[in-house]
Amino acid sequence: MMNCALCGVRKASVFQPAKRRALCKECFLEDVRSRVRAEVERWRMIEPGDRVLLALSGGKDSYVLLESIALYHSPSKLVGLSIVEGIPGYNREEDVAALKEVAKGYGVEIMVVRVKDFAGLSVHEMVKEARARGSPTSACTFCGVARRRIMSSVAEELGVDKLATAHNLDDEVQTAIMNILRGDLAGLLKLHPLSKGAGVRRVKPMRKIYEWESATYAMIRNFPFQRAECMFISEHPTLRARLRGELYRLERESPGALLRALELLDELLVPGEERVERCSRCGSPTAPSRSICRLCELLEELGMRSPPYTTSPLLSLRGSDRGGERYAP
Ligand SMILES: [Zn+2]
Ligand SMILES: [Zn+2]
Repeated sequence: MMNCALCGVRKASVFQPAKRRALCKECFLEDVRSRVRAEVERWRMIEPGDRVLLALSGGKDSYVLLESIALYHSPSKLVGLSIVEGIPGYNREEDVAALKEVAKGYGVEIMVVRVKDFAGLSVHEMVKEARARGSPTSACTFCGVARRRIMSSVAEELGVDKLATAHNLDDEVQTAIMNILRGDLAGLLKLHPLSKGAGVRRVKPMRKIYEWESATYAMIRNFPFQRAECMFISEHPTLRARLRGELYRLERESPGALLRALELLDELLVPGEERVERCSRCGSPTAPSRSICRLCELLEELGMRSPPYTTSPLLSLRGSDRGGERYAP
């Protein structure tokens, strides 16, 4: 076995096809962290002094995000958010506890918000209610819309400067192609790291890290990431699942293809100011074509006209000192 292409000392064990080189575990971990830092700095995703909310699902990518940002930015400026969807067998108490434990090691606190507390129904209850009413809306739609909304509400509530999510390179290229196939220029522009939407700026520090790299990193570090599959896996968007497989094959035949595609989009796209309207019912930012937001619309279909939309456990935390358990689930 050959030696690492970077340190030249330790045995190489991770091959990076896009760079045609093999690294030892230590150098591989450092390579991932330094590429995350480079992307963060390139687009000024996180600046000194910024308070950052890290959206952490408990999956492999979220642990890599947590570690690479906590080693880069002062942990006292970081807060983690764990959203409990309320899907049986998924994101269980032990998964949340494991995430909290690892985060604590970096001095980062995790807040837990339950979809049921926020929207009045858990994701599982939304799906049951939708089925009972003969609605074709998929579980992933309820879940995705609710999670995105909770993230932005919590970010706003806490008054943080940035909201960071753990999307990787594969996720980003899949989304870009889906937007291209739909002819959705606004959606494509939103993917650009400098796009400006309403509210707290969303950043994706891991957008140039391959999914396999994130998985390898999480495995080398032995992170206790969630391996359970969501019970609604069969409702996952099929186009994305197919693209994932196709892009994986393409990358294998032409190493670096996904990275080149995203780099090209970064150069091509020029995000301008986005026009933002407010939901006439709850006041949250929404697309210009809508009068009520997507979440209000989905919940109304389920017979809920005034969902709680409360991140109330957070209200009492505002301005309170850090340290200690601020909100136990
Ligand atoms: Zn090395
Ligand atoms: Zn609304």
